[in-house]
Amino acid sequence: MAAEALVQGGASVDLYDSMPSVGRKFLLAGKGGLNLTHSEPLESFIARYCKREPQIAPLLRAFGPGQLIAWAHDLGFDVFTGSSGRVFPSDMKAAPLLRAWLHRLRESGVSIHTRHRWTGWNASRLLQFATPTGGVLVDADAVVLAAGGASWPQLGSDAAWVPILETEGVAVAALQPANCGFDVESPRHAGSPGWSEHFHSRFSGQPVKPVALTFTGSDGARFQRQGEFVVTRSGIEGSLVYAASAGVRDEIATSGFAVIHLDLLPDWDLARVIREVAHPRGSKSLSSHLQSRTGLKGIKSALLRELLAPEDFDHPETLAHAIKSLPVRLTAARPVAEVISTAGGVAFESLDERLMIRAMPGVFCAGEMLDWEAPTGGYLLTACFASGRAAGLGALAWLKEQGVSA
Ligand SMILES: Cc1cc2nc3c(=O)[nH]c(=O)nc-3n(C[C@H](O)[C@H](O)[C@H](O)COP(=O)(O)OP(=O)(O)OC[C@H]3O[C@@H](n4cnc5c(N)ncnc54)[C@H](O)[C@@H]3O)c2cc1C
Repeated sequence: MAAEALVQGGASVDLYDSMPSVGRKFLLAGKGGLNLTHSEPLESFIARYCKREPQIAPLLRAFGPGQLIAWAHDLGFDVFTGSSGRVFPSDMKAAPLLRAWLHRLRESGVSIHTRHRWTGWNASRLLQFATPTGGVLVDADAVVLAAGGASWPQLGSDAAWVPILETEGVAVAALQPANCGFDVESPRHAGSPGWSEHFHSRFSGQPVKPVALTFTGSDGARFQRQGEFVVTRSGIEGSLVYAASAGVRDEIATSGFAVIHLDLLPDWDLARVIREVAHPRGSKSLSSHLQSRTGLKGIKSALLRELLAPEDFDHPETLAHAIKSLPVRLTAARPVAEVISTAGGVAFESLDERLMIRAMPGVFCAGEMLDWEAPTGGYLLTACFASGRAAGLGALAWLKEQGVSA
């Protein structure tokens, strides 16, 4: 986006990427359908950026979901809005869109240099790149850095830029997992992570749905939503968990653990659950009783067995309360390399309103390497597009101020 804004403004643009091809994480996002943006009203859209709403809002007002959809149309791609409000390209693929976009960039004059790994600046303030054929030095009038966060480093964004910018005196908030899964504390061995062998061997990879997740942080912030998640080898992941993940991650950082509560029958009220669980079960086993009276079976029934003490099953009211509010103790976010996105990055306080590093005139930053986070739902790509465009336009304006001709 920065390259596009700059080249459209008349600048001569060179785009460098360390990988053999560009946009690898964009292509990975396409595996999930490429959720480009979201159709909710702009004000609620902007509120998704939480603490960084003040910094992200101006970028989205200049280039928000509507402009992004128009941009995709202009490139030849229709979009559709799913029942959740998420917006996807009609073919739900990233590759055709990326191909068309790269074609348009090349046609406009952008020179793309792959296998060029940026390693910082030399003593003469030239950009240094490592390439398979040796080092390359580049003298640029302006630079836009868009080197990504730290998730899926095998796709190129390995956060090697962090020490480079820190050495230059730029404030960088520590990169942390965002939209991530978590490890559970073993219900059998307090302090160690993971489900019992019995549970994970049968249920790892299976979804739990419908379910509601409630989490109240020690700061009083409350999350409550219905949806679904997936049981993993050592814990939980999936859309509902990702949505709660920022607060849960911060709670674990503060307290060493976080307790979420699951409502396994979110469409039933407690009184109904108590009534059905307390219904005389005759000679039926407890699991067939639960299944016939409440419909609880399979993974939901197994979660109760995994997480409750055997004596809890002797008291219908205790069991009913657990079905409506089953505590799960989470002890760690999954490693940053395997999560969807990262929080943290270049502090907005280090940047001016056009995303130029105040201490490094002519150097701009955009995308996930900036210190913001947002849930899944198209909010990540939209802010990357918006900040890329803002940094490109910022660089263009700065070049003009410096009297640099195209
Ligand atoms: C599995 C998965 C699914 C996702 N799905 C969605 C989705 O559907 N919707 C959504 O909104 N978001 C989604 N995301 C998040 C989204 O893909 C990212 O937030 C977005 O790609 C970040 O864009 P970026 O340009 O800032 O960084 P990146 O896309 O990470 O690009 C950074 C680029 O910089 C290059 N680079 C890094 N360091 C150097 C260096 N030193 N020298 C040269 N080049 C370098 C990398 O090779 C890379 O090409 C998903 C993420 C994952 C992991």
